[in-house]
Amino acid sequence: MPLDFLKRKKGELPGATPAAAAATGSVVLPEEVVAQEYQLKLYYAGKSSEGVRMKTGPGAMGELPSMLVGLAKSEIEVVEPLPIEFSQATPTIARPSEAMQWLNAHHVHSPITRHALVVLESIDAVDLAFDTFVCSLLEGEIDTSGYPEYNAVVGGVAAHWDEATGDMVCRAVVGWGGRGVRGDTDRIGAKLLAELLTNILASQYALGLTAIDRPVPAAGRVGLVCAHCGFASAHERAFYCLKCGMRLLRG
Ligand SMILES: [Zn+2]
Repeated sequence: MPLDFLKRKKGELPGATPAAAAATGSVVLPEEVVAQEYQLKLYYAGKSSEGVRMKTGPGAMGELPSMLVGLAKSEIEVVEPLPIEFSQATPTIARPSEAMQWLNAHHVHSPITRHALVVLESIDAVDLAFDTFVCSLLEGEIDTSGYPEYNAVVGGVAAHWDEATGDMVCRAVVGWGGRGVRGDTDRIGAKLLAELLTNILASQYALGLTAIDRPVPAAGRVGLVCAHCGFASAHERAFYCLKCGMRLLRG
């Protein structure tokens, strides 16, 4: 004699009528979970040129903003290297201590400069531990709040001091990005980088292209510390401060 449960229709629960199952809701995991998808793709990109060695002199640093003349599409802003007390500053909002330092250091700047710093610091194209950065909007639009659109190109000239010779070294830096990417932005960025480099080389202080390594600040360990600004050099052979250009005292 056949058993009752063998005659049950597929999907019918033992001891429950279909009506009862619908009323209480199913607690059985469905074969396929229906998921709503969420995502955000942030795209940041940038370019940095070779360095140009500059004749040392009191005028060299003051000359930096003039290298953006003819290319700048907004006010040219100068961002000084960060004081030691802001050495943890990072534009990462989930890390409150680093983010607060970053905001305290940069809230005075324009939306364009803050956008440029977020992009260029995130991709490691500038390092305000020692770079002086002169910045402007170079191409594209800003939104109604004054922030550059994702395909707007920002940038300018970054400068630091050669630890071995004390010369100032400048490089052209451009960046762009946000919630989107356009195919032609890379080409526009490359063109602007070349124009900036031309301006740097046209400076009366320029001595020519130089192939020095990108400097690395002393991470955690204490090297030779600058008596003037407190910056710690990672190199034993450093004679000048990367950040302020002062001669390092050896004792
Ligand atoms: Zn220094």
